[in-house]
Amino acid sequence: MAQGTETESRKLLGRLREEMASEAAGQERLDRITHLIADSIRAEVCSIYLFRDADTLELCATEGLSPEAVHKTRMRLGEGLVGHVAQSGKVVNTADAPSTKGFRYMPETGEERFSSFLGVPIQRLGEKLGVLVVQSRDARVYSADEVYALEVVAMVLAEMTELGAFVGEGAALSPRHQQSVQFEGGPAQEGSAEGHVWLHEPRVVVTNPIADDPHRERERLNEAVDELRVGVDKMLEISQGGDTEQLQVLEAYRMFANSKGWMRRMEEDIALGLSAEAAVEKEQSQARARMGQVTDPYLRERLADLDDLSNRLLRILTGQGGTNGADLPPDPILVARNIGPGDLLEYGRSLKGIVLEEGSVGSHATIVARALAIPLVVHVGHITTEALNGDHILVDGDQGMVQLRPEDTVVSAFRDKIAMQAKAQERYASIRDTPTVTRDGERINLVMNAGLMADLPSLGNSGAEGVGLFRTELQFLIRNQMPKRSELVTQYQRVMDAAGDMRVVFRTLDIGSDKVLPYMKHVEEPNPALGWRAIRVGLDKRGVMRMQLQALMRAANGRPLTIMFPFVAQAEEYREARWEVKKTIEREKRLGHVLPESIEVGAMLETPSLAFAPQKFFDEVDFVSIGGNDLKQFFFAADRENELVRRRYDTLNVSFLTFIERIVERCNISNTPLSFCGEDAGRPVEALCLAAMGIRTLSMRPASIGPVKSVLLRADLQSLRKIIADARHRGDQSVRSSVMEWLRNQG
Ligand code: PEP
Ligand code: MG
Repeated sequence: MAQGTETESRKLLGRLREEMASEAAGQERLDRITHLIADSIRAEVCSIYLFRDADTLELCATEGLSPEAVHKTRMRLGEGLVGHVAQSGKVVNTADAPSTKGFRYMPETGEERFSSFLGVPIQRLGEKLGVLVVQSRDARVYSADEVYALEVVAMVLAEMTELGAFVGEGAALSPRHQQSVQFEGGPAQEGSAEGHVWLHEPRVVVTNPIADDPHRERERLNEAVDELRVGVDKMLEISQGGDTEQLQVLEAYRMFANSKGWMRRMEEDIALGLSAEAAVEKEQSQARARMGQVTDPYLRERLADLDDLSNRLLRILTGQGGTNGADLPPDPILVARNIGPGDLLEYGRSLKGIVLEEGSVGSHATIVARALAIPLVVHVGHITTEALNGDHILVDGDQGMVQLRPEDTVVSAFRDKIAMQAKAQERYASIRDTPTVTRDGERINLVMNAGLMADLPSLGNSGAEGVGLFRTELQFLIRNQMPKRSELVTQYQRVMDAAGDMRVVFRTLDIGSDKVLPYMKHVEEPNPALGWRAIRVGLDKRGVMRMQLQALMRAANGRPLTIMFPFVAQAEEYREARWEVKKTIEREKRLGHVLPESIEVGAMLETPSLAFAPQKFFDEVDFVSIGGNDLKQFFFAADRENELVRRRYDTLNVSFLTFIERIVERCNISNTPLSFCGEDAGRPVEALCLAAMGIRTLSMRPASIGPVKSVLLRADLQSLRKIIADARHRGDQSVRSSVMEWLRNQG
């Protein structure tokens, strides 16, 4: 970089710093800054355009354009050169702006007189804030050094807290982090919570973007990077011989930590007058901007690694962050870009709610949040940049809404809703020990779904009569290496101990589709939900299946044992799996282990094909459990994970209910016990209709048992059957409206 530019830039940054330390605020400060930049860069015009909403930019301050245009001139994202810079996140540098593609003439600004145009994006950690523009009359292309200097200035501007908070025409700028914001995300675990933000990785605030002494800053950066490298090496040392995926990530970390390009760019920024932390953040911002454009998953992962590394470096430099040791606020609501299941388990039930910027309905964190019954909303864009530690926040996991720093009226409406839910809970507690018998005398068995030790206390609290589905894969998913058989024995023993005399249905490993074990070789599949999953993996990898069967038998140690195989599509798969159970019994006997008192072996009916298996299958199988989530997705050919279609078809669709009834009939012919264990079992109206179709065991989340029992106790299934039959005869598509009307008439 040219020496002259370096000094000029340092001078400019010095003046900017003085400005930022001055009393001026809001509009006045922005005006002074544009003046100062134009003056230093010797350009006739300097303007700051900021986002007014996600699609609109507004001229907020200018030196050189017509002052009347301020707060009047607006452009859409992508419109004109300014809009193009904002949209692409890339610099536009041209000597002849009026003839550059995309130029838009704005008469109110008088800008046709200016020929050259240099626009750089103002962004902070991937969040677009606006565009900084300089223009000159003479036709010149700004030099690379000038562009670079302006980027550094934009970075400093992005640090000004008032910048992103611009609201209202001509209004004074107000600090954005005081405003109330509503977000809409994806509901991932139901329930509502009010509390205070706890950032999993607190945002490091750079308070000193500009520094006087570049030598000292370079030293600070080098010391911090050394510390970072030592840290990464230590992590690598600990992980040697362990899980290879984790090693790969650490190797990538080390590669970045030793990257010369990364260091050089940061050192150049320091030479221009940035502090060490501002230089790190500038690099991080650019990496995040790139992340938004890269679609290749591998590259995105690597950029995410770099992002994480930058965070660590910032924490070393500022001494901030690191949640360890800090006190959680009262009623903590965890806010994070993403979180691993292990970290989430560490927080455990201390959290009142979770809000994730990324995440997904089927992610491991979601599985854990569900198990812990913590309201969770995913896909909440920009929450980590908007939220500050301790902010008041409301989470509605039913609707997927999040209110940050809510207004009083919103808070009181929300509290009313929570109070109503609490009242309902009291009502449910009062019927907890009442057996579920409908008004017409049908006994329904309500059992619960579980998957972690954390679920088991619910067995007593919820009134569940057993565990109808224990998803054993959760304990595999939350680890970073394959558990040993002895560990599984201990885990299953603890589950059986906690259940006492109650029956626990252990479902064997159901992996594949959305549940990918981090330590198993990943197989790229075009349609994972239709792919190599569940019992298909089990039968192809017999070693894992045998290990799990052995662990279950040893854990039972003389007690009764119930095993269920997931995703059985044809009778032969069940027979093969059952043969493995038989072989395992023989092996255990030979080895001198105590065998279970009895073993029941069931099959999950999750594909329509099994419903049409020869009757012999229903004679052979000890019990059948309908996995409604999968069965419904294959019945309607609608992906359960795809937001666009997952709610498209009603469970109360006549075809689906008729199909369920058919399965009930087939099981009845063979006297085979049947249960239903998808999410619908926990929805009161759906559960009622399933019971009306003849299902006598419903397995659901513990929190659903109260509401479902409450409606079943008051229901007359005979008359509900008639309502459904009538709707069917009329040719209705769904029975929902008739059932709802019937329920209303019943009060
Ligand atoms: C189901 O498919 O309904 C089921 C219970 O299994 P999972 O949701 O774990 O796939
Ligand atoms: Mg399933």
